[in-house]
Amino acid sequence: MFSYSDNDLYCEQVALADLAAHVGTPAYVYSSQTILSNYRAYDEAFGALPHTVCYAVKANSSLAVLALLAKAGAGFDIVSGGELARVLASGGDASRVVFSGVGKTAAEVEYALGHGIHSFNCESEPELVLLDAMAARRGVKAGFSIRVNPDVDAVTHPYIATGLGQHKFGIAIERARAVYERARAYTNLSAEGVSCHIGSQILDASPILEAVDMLVELARQLRAEGAPVRHLDLGGGLGISYRPGEKAPGVAQFVEGLHAKLRDTGLEVMVEPGRSIVGAAGMLLTRVLYRKQNGAKEFIVVDAAMNDLIRPALYHAHHEIVPLRKNGLPPVTADVVGPICESGDFLARDRLMANAMPGDYLAVCAAGAYGFVQSSNYNSRPRAPEVLVEGAGYRVIRRRETYLDLMRGETV
Ligand SMILES: *Cc1c(COP(=O)(O)O)cnc(C)c1O
Repeated sequence: MFSYSDNDLYCEQVALADLAAHVGTPAYVYSSQTILSNYRAYDEAFGALPHTVCYAVKANSSLAVLALLAKAGAGFDIVSGGELARVLASGGDASRVVFSGVGKTAAEVEYALGHGIHSFNCESEPELVLLDAMAARRGVKAGFSIRVNPDVDAVTHPYIATGLGQHKFGIAIERARAVYERARAYTNLSAEGVSCHIGSQILDASPILEAVDMLVELARQLRAEGAPVRHLDLGGGLGISYRPGEKAPGVAQFVEGLHAKLRDTGLEVMVEPGRSIVGAAGMLLTRVLYRKQNGAKEFIVVDAAMNDLIRPALYHAHHEIVPLRKNGLPPVTADVVGPICESGDFLARDRLMANAMPGDYLAVCAAGAYGFVQSSNYNSRPRAPEVLVEGAGYRVIRRRETYLDLMRGETV
């Protein structure tokens, strides 16, 4: 829902240059229509197949974004107690929450049990022991899945691949059956499902489909041995297009591939998409402060920095950068850099792009996922506001931080 009309970039019916002038920069802006249509693409593609789309909160955990998805009927995949607090505060339904993560603390498990979440995606045997003990103390039965590591290669950046034997995640699929078997001794646990999540920004869905076959087979065996196993949780990970020409798997096509594999299993399917729901729905707006040259290099110095969006520095991620208002100048090859005192503080390098001049606004595209959530106060920079566009209107859903916010909780 971002497009140009004449020389102006719009999000839905809002001209972003006007929005930037009102709200200031840097600022994150999200299209509510894009978020909802991406969620519905999953929901509708599953159709009659029993399913829950558990939005992965860590991709973008702003309350208004969560509220939008909760209202649309989404479940949630959380990786911390803090994320559960956000889901609850935004009106999400705890009974549609799954809790993933390799290092859940006792306090987090206690909190999640107290709110009656749907199930825990467990990643180790000691975690099962803890879950059983805490469920016993509360006198409840805790639903769990074991997150199996299928040892398939989700061709992606090494920092966001998670499904190989060498990674810290999950329990090797060969061992999983024995672990489920031992878990039967834990009387306060109920083996509700089998789960996996093999990585993120996956552009070829075939490794996920390969993992599905392994999960279906495991579920079949577990059921034959008397475990309840009602669902398969396939995790998230579908990629989006960050570069021109980069082709992301279509949600409908991906889900179509699942239908054939799951139709006759009697299993409910769960997915945990994050990036593919919010990634393309967001932009980081920034303003050009200065132009400068060092030797042969051309720099566009902007007011957004790596503390606002760390993906280029952390993953060498590519984000398209486009003008909010085209200025008619011929393009330039430049580095787009922020004010932070680090050479790693760049948003683009050697990029052929709009020849933006001081005062011009730029948009860093596809920044809705893993953008604001990874932002920090490094260099004592207040964090940017977030703005949600809804049709012809918009709301500031998180105000810009102040210097007082920066020092909150501190004493001299
Ligand atoms: C990060 C994560 C997701 C979401 O991944 P995306 O690539 O954003 O879809 C889903 N499940 C788990 C367990 C995760 O850690």
